[in-house]
Amino acid sequence: MRKYRAIVAAVLATAPIVGVTAQPAEAVRPATAQTWSSLMYTALNGSPEIVKLRAMLPAMRHAVVTRKVAIGQATTAQGAAQAAVATATSSNIKARRAYATAAAARKAAKTTAERRRQQAAERQRSTELDRSVVALRTAQTGLRNATAKLAAANDAWHAATVAVRNAEQKVAAGGGYNPGVAAQAAKLAAQVVTDTRAGFTIDDTTQVYGITVNKTIAYPFHRMIDDAAKAGVPLSGGGFRTREQQIKLRITNGCPDIWTAPASSCRVPTAIPGRSLHEIGLAIDMTYGGRTIPNHSSVAYQWLAANAARYGLVNLPSEPWHWSITGN
Ligand SMILES: [Zn+2]
Repeated sequence: MRKYRAIVAAVLATAPIVGVTAQPAEAVRPATAQTWSSLMYTALNGSPEIVKLRAMLPAMRHAVVTRKVAIGQATTAQGAAQAAVATATSSNIKARRAYATAAAARKAAKTTAERRRQQAAERQRSTELDRSVVALRTAQTGLRNATAKLAAANDAWHAATVAVRNAEQKVAAGGGYNPGVAAQAAKLAAQVVTDTRAGFTIDDTTQVYGITVNKTIAYPFHRMIDDAAKAGVPLSGGGFRTREQQIKLRITNGCPDIWTAPASSCRVPTAIPGRSLHEIGLAIDMTYGGRTIPNHSSVAYQWLAANAARYGLVNLPSEPWHWSITGN
């Protein structure tokens, strides 16, 4: 078993991790529990595609800024290329005039010596004219390249802008709360309890703000505590408890006996050891202002009644403080 776990962990370690708060690599929790977790993650964050897109958005927005800078640089380069063409054009005009003047002077030469001298001058001007033509063509090529680069920079900026807008629209449309997906998770809850009970160990739990809960519910529970706090309802509570703690609670809460009397027969309703969802970390007794939620008119109860289903938690009507994935 240990070896098998190590292999699975190694495989999971190489799998891509989507989003910073995605569920940690987990090989021991039942498949139904893992499905419940990913459905709730999707319900709260959108599909894996949306989660990935949201994670990519900052880099995509940064790319738009970078592309804008590239447009500025390409514009400057194009301006320099235009100036170079203007300079080369004016040099070329001067060289043409100088050559025409030299050619005319050679034709007008009266003596052989004069003609030879003017021929040398004409060849010199001709060479200069050729050079100016080459320089002009080079400058024109440079301008064409700079113009193409500027167009490419504009296209890249436009593409990056469109990509950001599309991503933002997709995230806005599909990144909100999805009650349909949460409902799929809710349908699985009873099976999650059965499967979790079959192989539960303390390793299946984790801490959320000091509350020990099953890893299965850790993510949505964490989100719930955060969102309640944002709404001005700071919640805490007690989640996981051991079999021994459940037995002690049966005694403390004045149950007629430990193993058979129904929960309702205790002074404070307390499940028979082995039946409580607290023993597998799938139930939490919620507190507000340091006290267990006392009744259905409590602010904390009201907030939970309106919102807890979004996070996959359901209330046990006889216990306003008790919230679990099935309501048991
Ligand atoms: Zn409870």
